[in-house]
Amino acid sequence: MRGGLEDTICAIATPLGEGGIGILRVSGNRAIEAVSPLVQLRSGKPLSQVRSHHLYLADILWPSGERCAGAGLTQSTGRDHRGRVIEEALVVVMRSPRSFTGENVVEIHCHGGALVLQTVCEACLAHGARLAEPGEFTKRAFLNGRLDLTQAEAVLDTIRAKTTISLKLAQQQLRGGLSSEVGRVRDALVSMLAHVEAAIDFAEEDITFVGHEELRALIQWAKERITQMIKTSQEGRILREGATVTILGKPNVGKSSVMNALLRMDRAIVTPIPGTTRDVLEDFINVRGVPVRLRDTAGIRVTSDPVELEGIRRSHEARREADLILVVLDGAEPLTVEDAEILRGLGETKCVIVANKADLPCQWTSAELSKILPQELNAVVRQVSAKTGSGIEELKDLMRSLLISNHPEASEGVVITHVRHLSALQRANEGLEHAGVSIVEGLPGEVIATDLRIATEALGEISGEISTDEVLDRIFSEFCIGK
Ligand code: GDP
Repeated sequence: MRGGLEDTICAIATPLGEGGIGILRVSGNRAIEAVSPLVQLRSGKPLSQVRSHHLYLADILWPSGERCAGAGLTQSTGRDHRGRVIEEALVVVMRSPRSFTGENVVEIHCHGGALVLQTVCEACLAHGARLAEPGEFTKRAFLNGRLDLTQAEAVLDTIRAKTTISLKLAQQQLRGGLSSEVGRVRDALVSMLAHVEAAIDFAEEDITFVGHEELRALIQWAKERITQMIKTSQEGRILREGATVTILGKPNVGKSSVMNALLRMDRAIVTPIPGTTRDVLEDFINVRGVPVRLRDTAGIRVTSDPVELEGIRRSHEARREADLILVVLDGAEPLTVEDAEILRGLGETKCVIVANKADLPCQWTSAELSKILPQELNAVVRQVSAKTGSGIEELKDLMRSLLISNHPEASEGVVITHVRHLSALQRANEGLEHAGVSIVEGLPGEVIATDLRIATEALGEISGEISTDEVLDRIFSEFCIGK
């Protein structure tokens, strides 16, 4: 990210479109001075003298001498009694440090239209503010100590949450749940590290700073806490990012119909993404609180032409990417080699065999199905009718329980939802593992201290006590402008 903390940054903080209000956000220690020339309060007070966190009605003026892109606006609104009024707005000043960024913040609450917001934004830029980069407000909140890194990430998770459970997890993290659990372990290790280092420094003297038993017990305790957190990560990722569920089956078994039956009523966010992969359709649904990306693939058939190869390739690709696979079989037709071929390609991926068309007489027995089921496949069979909807609700219950076997969100414990946190926890655990071995092998204090330091530094990365510009840039660039 370019630009330092001394810059005044501004951005439209609400989505661009038509809405009741749209908000322009300005932040920086000189934000009030920067905005003052374009804000003329109806009360006549200067902006620098208003009460913090109070709304004031104001005319927003275009800076004299500047060419105004929204010039037409001043005429059409009829509010140009000075020839320079571009908007009537509510203005709020939030003085440092009691603001989101920790700096002086001014928000201008305008009418919610793209042109009006852009014009007011341009007026701010003409007064010396610069356009904020993606996530720059939140990055400043972090750099100014208003949020730690997990909380900054939780801001984005809150905005993006697709189900009530993912929102709950994001809010837990925003309140500092993860940082305090990780901090507890880290603090204990840091103080132990201090003892180990003291023992190294005063090795000549006959003082015991820490006993091996005590050290071993603490490492064991820390490893247990960290392992407990790591265990929640698979389901945590699914709850935050959503699970990928792929529907496979030969042509005409009813894959699209099953997909439509699942989508009906529960479609959360409609984002058909045609053409990402040939013939793969995607849609998001909310399956009992779990966000699911449902993918309907083209029918896979066994032939000797290149389609066969393409089908096999896709089947493998789908298996690799999916958290769960629904293999649709046609209950109204005998099983075929194509069905067997699809089942063979699944490996050990979690899988539900959806016996569709249950409204028609079934043409195969469970014994016949067993014959074509590969041994390693851990599949559950469910009968449904995409046509009548029978069995679809039960299928959803089953999908939920296969994707999320526990209810991590219901427990009070911490749930790991980010790969970044998981990788830091794993590195911390490795450091502790090595430290434990070093103690058993009676290695010198320096070696134990190095391992403990690896662990404490990895834990420090989670909340951002230890961070690099590269990591920060990567995290904040995911945000939208204005956040
Ligand atoms: P796909 O090629 O696997 O995606 O299959 P489609 O969803 O296009 O369905 C193929 C045919 O099966 C269509 O004529 C559907 O109307 C029919 N079909 C799908 N599901 C059912 C079902 O549950 N019962 C009956 N009777 N027909 C179904």
